[in-house]
Amino acid sequence: MANIYYEKDVDRSAIASRKVAILGYGSQGHAHALNLKESGVDVCVGLRDGSSSAAKASEAGLEVRSLSDASAWADVIMVLLPDTDQAAVYEEHIAPNLQAGDALAFAHGFNIRFDLIAAPADVDVIMVAPKGPGHLVRRTYAEGGGVPCLIAVEQDASGGAKALALAYADGVGGARAGVIETTFTEECETDLFGEQVVLCGGMTELVRSGFDTLVDAGYQPEIAYFECLHELKLIVDLMYEQGIGGMRYSVSDTAEYGDLSRGPRVVDDHVRATMKQILTEIQTGAFAEEWVSEAHGGRENFRRLEAEGHEHRIEKVGSELRAMMPWISAGKVSVQEASGGQG
Ligand code: NAD
Ligand code: MG
Repeated sequence: MANIYYEKDVDRSAIASRKVAILGYGSQGHAHALNLKESGVDVCVGLRDGSSSAAKASEAGLEVRSLSDASAWADVIMVLLPDTDQAAVYEEHIAPNLQAGDALAFAHGFNIRFDLIAAPADVDVIMVAPKGPGHLVRRTYAEGGGVPCLIAVEQDASGGAKALALAYADGVGGARAGVIETTFTEECETDLFGEQVVLCGGMTELVRSGFDTLVDAGYQPEIAYFECLHELKLIVDLMYEQGIGGMRYSVSDTAEYGDLSRGPRVVDDHVRATMKQILTEIQTGAFAEEWVSEAHGGRENFRRLEAEGHEHRIEKVGSELRAMMPWISAGKVSVQEASGGQG
């Protein structure tokens, strides 16, 4: 069993004396910067020149500097830029401003795990990875809760790297929910696997395939949407609150028997074999190589697949139905609003 750290285990002095630069003000960046500030940490935001996020961050009461100035000012530099841009920003803005004893921090192990960034031996290299999207890291903290975090130490030059990672995780609210220690390798590989196979890739394709099967068989698209997408939240909420057993307890016994007897036919040996193959592509670095070259090569494939996703008929019927259910988004800040969009 993993060792889980809570607020009582945190030495807050490990971050109280530090200056933290948050590079980037996107999904994670705005959440880390605002949560740390409200936790009393000395923080600034580092943005590229002309960034459209600068006004948003300043309005939120944060100090904004250039990427280089922020890196020079800080002794803890948290890199919250897109994974495929981090290496270039590291070379140009961070590396020239790193001093012995500084800490370089990440929210995902990608650049360290796949050797895209090599930090000098005299700095700490740590990870604090909230296990949730950035807008929830912010919203949950503001509500008095927190999103669980993973921490990892790749390099402990100071001898205090783990205490710093734990105190940082506490500052963003993670120690309210639980902080688990991992390695860059484990975090990176499990994170990529989860988003590809279960959370994003597996889920969206399962939903769309179920929807398509019903609509192609002549059922009304609105009914297919409610059944295959809308209701998913209710089921996921039950799993989140009470596990799979709790969800099965709540649904009818007809639903439960269908689940028990049909689920393994949907996710069969073929699907499990594909899952293993996808994990291998992650472990060998083949996925990382493909994604970095896609990102640096104009993202043609990425954009085409994204556009095809927008064209799927479930999106049209979904936007019409959600417009009739304004309470779904009432009082919730959209992801785009929360982070001020890109820039
Ligand atoms: P994002 O795309 O939401 O935001 C990135 C920020 O960097 C934006 O402010 C953008 O304007 C800026 N930026 C983009 N390119 C830049 C460049 N070349 N130079 C300088 N600034 C640039 O990114 P994100 O989703 O917050 O991801 C940041 C890190 O957090 C990544 O390592 C990611 O894997 C990790 N992470 C993200 C989430 C999440 O919820 N999105 C969850 C866990 C970990
Ligand atoms: Mg993830």
